[in-house]
Amino acid sequence: MLPFARVTVIGLGLIGSSIARAVRDYMPSVRLTGHDASPAVREAARALRFADDVTDTAGAAVTDADLVILCVPVGAMAAVAAEIADELPADAIVSDVGSCKASVAAALTAHLPPAQVIPAHPVAGTEQSGPDAGFATLFRGRWCIVTPLADSDPTGVERVAEFWRRLGAEVEQMAPDHHDLVLAVTSHLPHLIAYTIVGTADDLEQVTESEVIKFSAGGFRDFTRIAASDPVMWRDVFLSNKDAVLDMLQRFSEDLSQLQRAIRWGDGDALYDRFARTRAIRRSIVDQGQDDAAADFGRKHD
Ligand code: NAP
Repeated sequence: MLPFARVTVIGLGLIGSSIARAVRDYMPSVRLTGHDASPAVREAARALRFADDVTDTAGAAVTDADLVILCVPVGAMAAVAAEIADELPADAIVSDVGSCKASVAAALTAHLPPAQVIPAHPVAGTEQSGPDAGFATLFRGRWCIVTPLADSDPTGVERVAEFWRRLGAEVEQMAPDHHDLVLAVTSHLPHLIAYTIVGTADDLEQVTESEVIKFSAGGFRDFTRIAASDPVMWRDVFLSNKDAVLDMLQRFSEDLSQLQRAIRWGDGDALYDRFARTRAIRRSIVDQGQDDAAADFGRKHD
C-alpha cells in the first residue's frame, strides 16, 4: 500500500519538481498538487505537467493533502508554515527538504501542531535550480535523512520514510541537531570553501581572469561547480546552521594552519600522511556507491 495518496509540494524548484516527477513515475496513482510563490514558476510547472494541479495560494494546495512537503529555501519555511496552518487537514503530515533541520523544525512547529511535523533532508541535489532543473531519478541511491521530533507521530515517521524509499532513496533517522553537525562538515563547509576559493581567484590582481579560466582543469573548475549553487539557498543554510558551521570552520582553520606550517618548514612527511589519509576517504565514498569511480569525475577526454 502506498504511504500517501494525496501529496502537496510547495516550492517547485529543483527539489520540489524532482519530487513531483518522481512521484509521477514511481507512484502514478498519487494525486499531486503543487504551489510556488513565483507566478513564473507556477506557469512553468503547469506547462511541464509534473503536477495534477498547481494552485495560486499555499493554503489552497493543502486542503485535501495527506502529505505536504515544503521545498522552499530554509529561510522561507516559517512563512509557508504560517500560510498553510489554517487549511491543513488534522491528519495530514507536514515534511520538508531543508538542508538544516533544527532551525526548520523550530520554524515549522511555531505554526503547526508538532505531532504532524516530520522534517527530512534528501542528501541529493545539483548546482542547478528552478522547475526545469528537476528530474525523477535525483534521489535514486541517495540518502534521505528523516529527523523526527520528540512529538512526531511514529506511524507518520514510518510513512515518510516509506515515501522516500519509493522515490529510490535509502533512509536513515537522526536527531535534528546531529544532522546539522554531520551536514556542516559533509556539505556546508565544502560549499563555504568553494565559495571562498572561487572568490579569491576572482579577486587576484597578478593572475588574469582568462588565465584562471584557461587553466582551471588544475583543480579550480571542480570547486566552481559547487560555487555555482543557488545563492539564496546557501545564504539561508549558513544563517540557519550558524553554530555547527562555525564549529567546523574553527577546526578547519586549525588544520589549515597545520598544513601551512608543514609547507613552511618543509615537513614532507606531514603533508604525505595527510594526503594519503584523504585519498583513502575518496576510495570509501566510491566503494559505498556515493560517487562514480570514473577518472576525472567521468569527464570525456577525446
Ligand atoms: P530552488 O530550485 O530555488 O526552488 C525553490 C522554490 O521555492 C523557488 O521556485 C522559489 O521561488 C520558491 N519559493 C521561495 N519562497 C517561497 C514561498 N514563501 N512560498 C512558496 N514558494 C517559495 O531551490 P531548491 O534547490 O529546490 O531548494 C529547495 C530546498 O531544498 C531548500 O530548503 C534547500 O535547502 C533544500 N535542498 C536543496 C538541495 C540542492 O542541492 N539544491 C539539496 C537538498 C535539499 P523564487 O525562485 O521565486 O524565490
